[in-house]
Parts: sequence; structure tokens; C-alpha cells
Amino acid sequence: MRDFDVDEYWNKVDLTEDKLRTIVSSNIRTWQSMTELNVARRGLQMIVDASKAITSRHNIDGFTKTVLAEISRLIGVPESGGVACAYRKAQQTPEESVILAATGDFVRHEQRSIKELLEHYPSEKNAIHSLFSEAVSTTEHKFDGSWSALYFNTQDVNDHHYLFLVKSPKKLLPSHISLLMVFSENISNGFMNIALMDKLSSLAFFDTELNVANRNWLQRQFQNSSTFDRKETVMVLVKVDDFYTCEILLGADYALEMLKQALEQLRKRLSPHFAVARLEDDTFAFLMHRSNLPDTVQLENATELSLELEEITHKSECFIAVLDVADIDDQESDKAIRLAEATLHAGHHAGSALQYYSPTLREELGARYLLLKELHSALNEKSGLKLKYQPKHDLETGKIIGAEALLRWQHPFRGELSPGIFIPVAETSGLINKIDMFVMQQVFKDIKTLINSDIAIPVSFNVSSRDFDSPLFMEAFRVLLSEKTIDPALLEIEITETQAIENYNIVMDVLKVISDSGVKVSIDDFGTGYSSLAHISKLSAHTLKVDQTFVQQLTGTEPDNALAVIRMIKKLSDEFSTDIIAEGVENERQRDVLLENGYRAGQGYLFSKPMPLTELRTQLQHQQSH
Ligand code: C2E
Ligand code: CA
Ligand code: CA
Repeated sequence: MRDFDVDEYWNKVDLTEDKLRTIVSSNIRTWQSMTELNVARRGLQMIVDASKAITSRHNIDGFTKTVLAEISRLIGVPESGGVACAYRKAQQTPEESVILAATGDFVRHEQRSIKELLEHYPSEKNAIHSLFSEAVSTTEHKFDGSWSALYFNTQDVNDHHYLFLVKSPKKLLPSHISLLMVFSENISNGFMNIALMDKLSSLAFFDTELNVANRNWLQRQFQNSSTFDRKETVMVLVKVDDFYTCEILLGADYALEMLKQALEQLRKRLSPHFAVARLEDDTFAFLMHRSNLPDTVQLENATELSLELEEITHKSECFIAVLDVADIDDQESDKAIRLAEATLHAGHHAGSALQYYSPTLREELGARYLLLKELHSALNEKSGLKLKYQPKHDLETGKIIGAEALLRWQHPFRGELSPGIFIPVAETSGLINKIDMFVMQQVFKDIKTLINSDIAIPVSFNVSSRDFDSPLFMEAFRVLLSEKTIDPALLEIEITETQAIENYNIVMDVLKVISDSGVKVSIDDFGTGYSSLAHISKLSAHTLKVDQTFVQQLTGTEPDNALAVIRMIKKLSDEFSTDIIAEGVENERQRDVLLENGYRAGQGYLFSKPMPLTELRTQLQHQQSH
């Protein structure tokens, strides 16, 4: 009464019992509301603090621990009480939930189930049980005397459920309950944020098809490791070579199963300790300590996997590249992944199943890079690159019936370079699109030049399957055709069988578009790929161009084999009603065998070598006047 100035009334004469009662009770009410306000104000500050503490936590462990500490602080749970956070899987009963983190008395129950915790409170067991069962079924927080159950889930993102069980020494005051309710909003948001972060990071760092880490993860892992650890690391890249072929010939499910099994075998064969990531569709990267690197024999064994797929043994060949990070320049250690990939590429290119990175290889790679740069500037400056044309002939009469554009590069100091050298290098980068675009534009111009001299023969040019992926290239092609300055029937594109089949899904669609526009399609180097009849028949091809190795073998060491292939391809072309042409005809014997077997068209040094456009024109003019 002294505190609230109620004592002055003692002296008042008119103070009746009733009046005193009213005054005292109204003052007590005021006191109560002031206290509540104070608690609330303090509570608000606490919630703000608590919320700050939990928002800085991004993993579930750190987050729950902080939340537990903050709940204890908010409602004053001392050591004799306890707060526990349990994680419940969707199909579990609430009692089966496992306790992730706990404080106070509950600490000893961490990693155990709620059921076990309840055994320690026999008299209250049933009440608590129904308390949190109710919380789970109503998805609300429940308070009952000194026990509370807070329930959260992140169902919008994943199927995680969380239960907080709070045991306070005394019955919770309404003010405490309101604090908990307000704080729960923040907890709920926190769980949601973590769920979202998890999802994002699993999308960004995880390959969901194979349940392994992906390239982003590997990059992060590598960048975050110390220079010391990095220098102790060996990177082993494994490319499962027939993945794409399998995907096309046998379907995506089959190819994926093959990859899964391949990964499983590689895990066993490579090393007991490593981290693995899927770097490309068909390539894995294993990171391991140098001391765990398998020896050459073991690595060589791992290049041939024997898988059991649909009850058939499937032999799968792999290319392996090994890069010891200690072997690369300090300045380049952040490029380790790219260098490992380049090593793999180099091995693949050279046909060696196992390729170790070495400084010499680095130099070769450097040279390739230099070549790319030079090629780039040749393209930009439109200098040094020109086309030659190799005629296609009637095998019987020798008459020119068409021509193929072949690119030549006059290198600033290395002389004329064969496309066999620079095209494969360009194909490893986007440069191939620019090159082929240049060729295509030039071919259009050259056909016009021929037309102006009253010469109309079909002219073909080579494309890479990578051109079909390139919107730039396809758009340029469309624009050139739409100008309608040349008859599309005078134009033919050549794509190799291997590339067509490796990128079958894209190639098939694009070839359809191209042939619908009236441009012819020729399948180059035919017989060297592994396409099935079903696939060939679906490609919109007008011509099969038999690979020159078969033609040359006709007069080589195994003429019978070559002859069998030559005949088989002829049968195929009859079957699919396509034209057929043989390339690389170097002598009369080869020409005669081809003629005997129903071939009418051919190309090769026997007739002509690739020549400048002007020479081709002269020859054609000569041919026309006879
Ligand atoms: P390809 O399309 O199979 O071209 C045939 C290659 O064989 C040409 O080599 C040609 O000069 C050569 N050749 C022609 N007749 C004979 C012969 O009787 N005997 C022998 N031994 N060889 C003969 P080239 O010009 O060096 O071209 C190599 C490859 O580079 C081409 O093979 C083609 O795949 C590619 N290529 C050439 N130009 C381009 C282009 O503009 N774009 C693309 N993407 N690739 C191109
Ligand atoms: Ca060709
Ligand atoms: Ca060819």
C-alpha cells in the first residue's frame, strides 16, 4: 500500500470499509497491469534478442540449440527443467521422434526417442503424451501446467516435423505463454528458412539423379580447402565412354542404371577414401589424398567395367585422368578442375584410357589453347581462312557432279594447316560454331558466283552436331535460306555418323527441319559409327557417304572385310532409298570394285584434290562446253 500511495487514506474521516476495498482493489489492478506491461516490454526485448540469435543460424543443429537456449531464457527454465527439440519423420508417431537437442534435465535424452524420455516421468506420462499428440494432430502449440508442446512443420518445402517439449518448474504464466506464442512465429520462420536453404543448396550442389554431389559442390569444396590440403589432393576423373550412345540406343533409364552401377564399381575399385562428384552427365570426379591413389594397374583395371544390366553383362569402357594438384603451378591451383578435364580430354583424344597430368601435357594443352586463340583472331579478322572445293564425280564417266567445301587455314607462321588439326580443337570450344558459320556464309556466296557463270551443281559443306545446339548458327542458316538467292536443292550439309548418333535427339529434329527446307543431308564417314538401323532410318538423310577407310582397304591388307562393308552399306542405301557416295577413291582398282558393287558416285585423289573455287569453275566450264 505504501508503494502505491494508498496509505494517505488512513487519515481520511470518510473512509468507509467499502471505499477502502474499492481503492485497494483498483490499485492492485493498476499494479498488475503495470507489472504485465513491464513484463511485456521486457519480453518484447527478449523476443527481439532471441530472434536475432536464431536468424544467424543456418543449419538445423545450430538453430535448434539456439532456440532451446532462448526458450529457456524467455520463460526462465532452470537446469531442473528442460527443453527438447525432436524431429519427427512423417510416418512416425510423435513418441518415436528422436531428440535432436536438449537443455537442462533433458540433456541425457539427446539422440533418444521421446518415448524413452517419458519413461522418466511415469506419473505425468499420459498427460504429456496426449499433450503433444494433440499438438501434432491439431498442428498447434499446447500448454498444460508445467508442460508445453510446440509443434512446427515445413511441409510447404519438405516433409520435416519438429516438436519442442518444454518442462518448466512451475505452471507457465499467461505472459510466458504469450511470449512463447510470439517467439514461435520466429521459430517457425527459422525452420522454414533452413528448409528452403537446404533445398536450394541441394539443388545447387547435388545431383538428384545419382544422389551424389555435383560440379558446384566440387568447386566449392576445392576452393574452400587450404593450400596445404589442396597440395595433398589427387583428382581422378572418370568418363564412362558409352553413356551417350547407350542413352540413345537403349534409353535414358538404361543409361542411368548403367551410370549408377559404374559409379558403384568405381567406388569399390578406386579407393576406400574419397569424395565424389558428378562433373558432367558421363563424368565423375574423385578427390582423394595422394596416399590413397590406386596404382597404375588398378587404375587401368578400372577403365574396363563389367556391369550387370537387365541380366546381361555390359562391358563399359572408361577414360581416366589423374591430376596430382602438387604438379600444377601455384598460380594455377584454382584451375585444377579445368586442367583435370583438359587432361581427360587429351586422353580421350589420343585414345589412351589412362592419362596422367604432367607439365609436358600442360604445354601441349597450352599449345592447343594458343591455336584456339589464333583461330579466333583469324576468324575475327577474316584472314587466313579460305575454302577449297573437292569435286564429287561420276565413277563411270569421271564427270563432276557436285563439290564439297573443305576449310583451309593459312597459319601466320606454320603454313597451311589441315582441318584435321584445328577442327577437333575448335570442337572442344564454341569456336566451331563461328567457323562453320563462316564456311556456310562463304558457301552461299560461292554458289552464287558459280550460278553467275551459269554453273549449277550441288555443293556440300561440313557441320558439327554442336552447330545444331547453337541458336546463332541456326538463325544464320535460316536467314541465308530466306534470302532465296539460291535454290536450296543446290545445298547439302554433311554431318558425321558418329556425331549424329552421339547427339541423336537434337540432330534428328534439326535434320528434319533442314531437309524440310529443301536442303539435302549427307551422313559423312558412314560405317564408322555404331548406329543401329532403327536410328539411321529415322535420320532425314538423302545420302550415305561411305568412309574412306573402307574404300582404301579394298586394296589393302584385308580387302574381303572392306568389301563386305561396302556391300552392306550399299544394301542399306537401297533399303532406305538414299543415295550413296564413296570417298577417298585413290586408284582405279578401288573405283572398279565400287562400280561392280553398284556405286555410281565417288570422291578422291584419283579424280581431283581439293581446289580453289576459280579452278573448280574453270573445270566445270570446260566440262559444260564438251
Ligand atoms: P571429311 O569431311 O571426311 O573430308 C574428307 C577429307 O579427306 C578431307 O580432308 C579431304 O581433303 C580428304 N581426302 C579427299 N580425298 C582423299 C583421298 O583420295 N585420299 C585421302 N587420303 N584423303 C582424301 P581435310 O580437308 O583435311 O578435312 C578433314 C576433315 O575436317 C573433314 O573430313 C571434315 O570432317 C573436317 N572439316 C573440313 N572442313 C570443315 C568445316 O568447314 N567444318 C567442319 N565442321 N568440319 C570440317
Ligand atoms: Ca565431309
Ligand atoms: Ca568423310
